[in-house]
Amino acid sequence: MQNKKIKKLILGTNNQGKVREIKKLLPKSVKIQTPKNLNIKSPEETGISFLENSLIKARYFSKKTGKICLSDDSGLEIDVLNQLPGIYSARWAGPTSDFKIAIKKVYRKLKKKKINFNRKIKCKFICALTIYWPSGKYYQSQGIIKGRISAESKGSRGFGYDPIFIPNGYKITFGQMLFLKKSKIDHRYRAFKKIRKFF
Ligand code: IMP
Repeated sequence: MQNKKIKKLILGTNNQGKVREIKKLLPKSVKIQTPKNLNIKSPEETGISFLENSLIKARYFSKKTGKICLSDDSGLEIDVLNQLPGIYSARWAGPTSDFKIAIKKVYRKLKKKKINFNRKIKCKFICALTIYWPSGKYYQSQGIIKGRISAESKGSRGFGYDPIFIPNGYKITFGQMLFLKKSKIDHRYRAFKKIRKFF
């Protein structure tokens, strides 16, 4: 069953930024539904890793709908903040998912640590993907992109922490980068490459 190419699935996320980006990675022929379309709320993310939370979401949405689910759990890890926000990346934006709040929180925490922005503030985006079949079988992959925190928030493209993330080898943030470029180097693309064979 799992060896058959997937032709339709439910995208296991209520984050519209992710929905947009994952849709672009999948072949156009794959029919996609989202929990929003079906009026299903996201489950509580009780895992302690991106892989665990990705599995929790994929299993939940697959069981709820009886369909194959592809879910994404991702976030930003900042070395000097002991890898925070990490799995709490979405939660730092508060109940209204306001990423201006999350970004302010990053700078507040860095300021508290008296971080000098002349030094590289190392960080990475991580993405864990899970494909979950109604039979209970699943497959997971992970992708990482390393970079640094920008001295200030820049650019209005993308979503989440994109305006403060500068990938290694570049001088601009993901928020300033064209989507076509971001989508060929980022953590989501790198994780997706490993599951492309299923589509
Ligand atoms: P969750 O996986 O739904 O728990 O949320 C992950 C959070 O990490 C998102 O809400 C974003 O804030 C952040 N994040 C994940 N991937 C990206 C990205 O590609 N750009 C910017 N922020 C991201």
